[in-house]
Amino acid sequence: MKTTVAIIGGGPGGATSAMFLQNYGIDSVIIEKEIFPRYHIGESMTGECGAIVRKLGLEDKMLKANFPVKRGLTVYGTGGKNSWFVPVMRRGDDGKLHPQFTWQVRRSEFDKILLDEAIARGTPLVQGQAFDVSKTENGAVCGVKVRLADGRVEEIEAEVVLDCSGQSTFLANLGVTGPKYRGNYDRQIAIFSQVKGAIRDEGDKKDDTIIFYKGKYHWSWFIPLDEETVSVGVVISSAYFQEKNESKRDFLIRELRELNPEIVKRIPEVHLIEEVRSIVNYSFQVREFTGPGFICIGDAHRFVDPIFSFGLYVSMKEAQFAADAIAKYLDGVDRDLPNPFIRHQQFCEKGIDVVEDFVDFFWEQPLAFAAFMHVRHFDEMIDSLAGRIYDGQPSPAVSSMRKLLKRNRAEENQVSLPAGSRYHPERAEIGIEDYQRMKD
Ligand SMILES: Cc1cc2nc3c(=O)[nH]c(=O)nc-3n(C[C@H](O)[C@H](O)[C@H](O)COP(=O)(O)OP(=O)(O)OC[C@H]3O[C@@H](n4cnc5c(N)ncnc54)[C@H](O)[C@@H]3O)c2cc1C
Repeated sequence: MKTTVAIIGGGPGGATSAMFLQNYGIDSVIIEKEIFPRYHIGESMTGECGAIVRKLGLEDKMLKANFPVKRGLTVYGTGGKNSWFVPVMRRGDDGKLHPQFTWQVRRSEFDKILLDEAIARGTPLVQGQAFDVSKTENGAVCGVKVRLADGRVEEIEAEVVLDCSGQSTFLANLGVTGPKYRGNYDRQIAIFSQVKGAIRDEGDKKDDTIIFYKGKYHWSWFIPLDEETVSVGVVISSAYFQEKNESKRDFLIRELRELNPEIVKRIPEVHLIEEVRSIVNYSFQVREFTGPGFICIGDAHRFVDPIFSFGLYVSMKEAQFAADAIAKYLDGVDRDLPNPFIRHQQFCEKGIDVVEDFVDFFWEQPLAFAAFMHVRHFDEMIDSLAGRIYDGQPSPAVSSMRKLLKRNRAEENQVSLPAGSRYHPERAEIGIEDYQRMKD
């Protein structure tokens, strides 16, 4: 089989890539190993993630699917005190902030809507697992090898391979990219399920996201998924989880009863209606995630932390940017550079650097964070939390955060260095093999 772009993974990053490529008239093929609908975590969208969905022309489908409407995020500090609310707001053509809404999504449904739409608009789906790439004599990636459900191997030739495999980091595992480093939140574990009968806020805030924290790096989420069901999860260091010596289920139930008085009030009876699942070591970063013939998208090269729900947005936005970069490449732009996608890479890295600094600042300097939120930089904080992390960044708020974090991203060679390499050298020096061994 021959195509222009082979997309590995039919999740939001993959399906969105296909649809933005279609807008340029560029043909692609999606390779997906799972049969959809399939379970996935990652259910709350930022405002700008909703904007991408609208740009794809899918607002009507979202409303028809009855996904809960999210108008903001409330964060409760230790002991249920010091709460703050961030509304979802867009920037209008007048440069001012205006109220907007986005969505909470049950991922099995949302991902299927996106993938079905990409297929309906003309991108074929190859159901199978990518297991290797093909390369030219010069070492450029020029295709993917896929094991189909019946065991046959299909070779797909492509001018560009997009790795949208999420946390599977397909190209990084093959050693096609630069090394994979642990991120700042690598030793965290997320344990999650769903509850029924939780008490929500009244009125417009009924379906909003709520975050509760107990102490540094110890927090939980509350994300309404429909009229009755709420997704709940607890995030904590793996060491704390091991110390407790409980099953995941017992751990989650006890934490929901103890973590923060506000969550206890909202879930008086912890009645789990879903399997209790977990994810460990979700925080990592892949260096040189673009190169001749390939681009990695979103989670396939970097994930910081789930606390402010940037994951879906970053994958879908990078999918849009990658389509732009591929269109230029096919027109001959930067084709002769050793890495034709270097500009795209640097642009995306700077965006996620903003996310990383934002999350680090929240944990490292909570009082300053609150002052930024309430007094000094309200509009800019709303921008960052909505996902406006690319154009216009670093804003004065993000620059001040970096100063307080003693983090210099101003020089070009400081962009996207794994934060651990400067702050926790022992973490960043761990390469992909150690990482894989640890995960196993
Ligand atoms: C605990 C936790 C909570 C989170 N909460 C949120 C949240 O509230 N909001 C938010 O926006 N984000 C959240 N995220 C992040 C979010 O889950 C991801 O950022 C998002 O799913 C990334 O989308 P993607 O399309 O890049 O990857 P994925 O959604 O992971 O899709 C990748 C697809 O690739 C397929 N695939 C993988 N390998 C292969 C292969 N070799 N061959 C073929 N197919 C393959 C997989 O089957 C999968 O369907 C959370 C993450 C964690 C860890």
